[in-house]
Amino acid sequence: MLLTRLLNACHRFPGFVYEGARLDEATKTIEVQVRPRRGSKPCCSGCGQCASSYDQLPERRFEFIPMWGFAVLLLYRMRRVRCEACGVKVEQVPWAMGKHTLTRAYMLYLAHWARKLSWQETARSFHTSWEKVCQAVEYVVQWGLEHRQLGPIRAIGVDEIQYGRGHTYLTLVYQIESGCVRLLWVGKERTIESFEKFFTMIGKELAEKIEFVCSDMWKPYLKLIAKYCTHALNILDRFHVVAKMNLALDDVRAAEARRMVQDGYEPVLKKSRWCLLKRPENLTDNQRVKLRDVLRYNLASVRAYLLKEAFQDFWVYDSPTWAGKFLDQWTTQVMRSRIEPMKKFARTIRTHRELLLNYFRARKAFSSGVIEGLNNKAKVTMRKAYGFRTFGMIEIALYHALGKLPEPKLAHDFY
Ligand SMILES: [Zn+2]
Repeated sequence: MLLTRLLNACHRFPGFVYEGARLDEATKTIEVQVRPRRGSKPCCSGCGQCASSYDQLPERRFEFIPMWGFAVLLLYRMRRVRCEACGVKVEQVPWAMGKHTLTRAYMLYLAHWARKLSWQETARSFHTSWEKVCQAVEYVVQWGLEHRQLGPIRAIGVDEIQYGRGHTYLTLVYQIESGCVRLLWVGKERTIESFEKFFTMIGKELAEKIEFVCSDMWKPYLKLIAKYCTHALNILDRFHVVAKMNLALDDVRAAEARRMVQDGYEPVLKKSRWCLLKRPENLTDNQRVKLRDVLRYNLASVRAYLLKEAFQDFWVYDSPTWAGKFLDQWTTQVMRSRIEPMKKFARTIRTHRELLLNYFRARKAFSSGVIEGLNNKAKVTMRKAYGFRTFGMIEIALYHALGKLPEPKLAHDFY
């Protein structure tokens, strides 16, 4: 039998033998009978010790990796053991765990593809259900979390990401040093209590050895970072600073555009949003024309735009002293601008002056690009995941995509 030989070559377990396979063309299923090798003793699922056989349960079906469009099922009657330590227990079989109907090999297989495709696409490709893909990923992620090595951690980035409808946020903590970039932790909500759990997870010793923390200006984050990462330089992340300024600029533009329509002016700001928010080098030809047109007007949006563009020079400095001087001049200029959202941003910048200058003290060691890149990947993961309704699902999907978790090993590579 070719199939049993194949199975023996890739999925062989000492105490068990494959005994013939049967193809059911109507249901497109291959059923493979498995039985214990003569003389082999079952092992207790409670403690792993071998024990004497007590009785045998009705046949169970385990799903193995499908092949050529046929589902492959392993059929086996589990034995019960009489264990000295645990009493009467079901035996433990090496190809599956607990009540799972999927074999370990198949779970690893599905989880592998679920990282490349969406869960939905994975389910469709292998003629299985979304729930089973989910089970598979859950198993692999849990195993990975239990077996991963957390330390040492030199640099972390803290970020938040919106999920679901409305203003629900997750807190994400990444490790961002060169050589190790991964998602370390996912927190429900964006609160002190939830962020504190991250520090509980890594423990005092690891937290104190962290050298750099990149974060945004959100006060509870800053407080906890100061409390736990006692030896770290807290750096305000460039990505978050730019994002905040863009919000201010967008407020100015939106309010002004509304006012112009109300007062019956020509709607010159219409469709100008991305022209003003994007860096000039990223504009499309049409947006470039539009921007040139808008810039001819004496508008608060235009002045705010020019201030935003001027701020780009800040990031080019090498010395914290000169960067600081630039910052003071720029904020002074903004405070005179009479553009309220920009002034508010400038005040925030002033309050966090030292943390901003830490960016230069860290010699730009951690480019904002790292956090921004991870943030984008996290967003893609969430977008691909139309089925993720609960926090638990999202957490698993994010760890699976970004956690770089270790995976359980099989004797044979199926993918
Ligand atoms: Zn036992």
